[in-house]
Amino acid sequence: METNKGINMKHCESCGGGPLALNVIPVYRDRKIGIEGVVLKDAVWAETCPKCGHQDDEVIIPNLPGLVAAVAIARVKLPVKLKGRDIRFLRWAMELTGRNLAKKLEVAAETISRWENDHDPINPASEKLLRLLVGVHLAERAPMVPFIAKDIDTMRITFRPTTETLEMWFVAVPAEQTATEPQGRVWVRAAAA
Ligand SMILES: [Zn+2]
Repeated sequence: METNKGINMKHCESCGGGPLALNVIPVYRDRKIGIEGVVLKDAVWAETCPKCGHQDDEVIIPNLPGLVAAVAIARVKLPVKLKGRDIRFLRWAMELTGRNLAKKLEVAAETISRWENDHDPINPASEKLLRLLVGVHLAERAPMVPFIAKDIDTMRITFRPTTETLEMWFVAVPAEQTATEPQGRVWVRAAAA
C-alpha cells in the first residue's frame, strides 16, 4: 500500500472514525512555551477526526526555535513591565542559566530568582539591559520580527493592570517561495483576529 506524507491511517480515539486528517488550527492558544498570551493563527497542525471533529492533543508547531525567538523579540518590544514569568521565559529563550544571566546583568544570582518568582520587580536599568540582550541573542532567529535597539533605548515602560491580558498573535509564512516544509517557515507578528 502506498503511504502518503501528511495522511496517516490512525483512527479517532473518540469515535473510531477516520482515518484522521491533518488540519490547520485557525486559532491556537499556546500553553506550552511558558509565556502568556501567545496566539498562533492558521499555523499549527493537528490530526483531526473527519467524523466527529475530535482533535489530537499532539500538535505540530512549525519552526519552534524560530517561534520562541519571535515571541521573545515581540515581548521585549512591548513597553509593558516584565513580570517574573516573562523574565524566566526570556532567559530560557536565550538558553541562559540564572547564574549566567546574573553575570551578564551584573546582579546576584538570587536577584534573578527573586525577579522570576515575583518577589521583587526587576529594576528599570536591568530591565532595559535584559531587553537589549534578548535582541543580541535572538534577533537573527526571528528575521521577520525586527529588533531595533534604539526603540529599547527610548522606551517608556508602563505597568499593565492585572485585569488586562496581553495577547501576541503570530502567523508562520514560508521563508522562501520554494519552502513547503513546515520547518521552512518563519514567524511574523499578526493582528488579532
Ligand atoms: Zn471521531
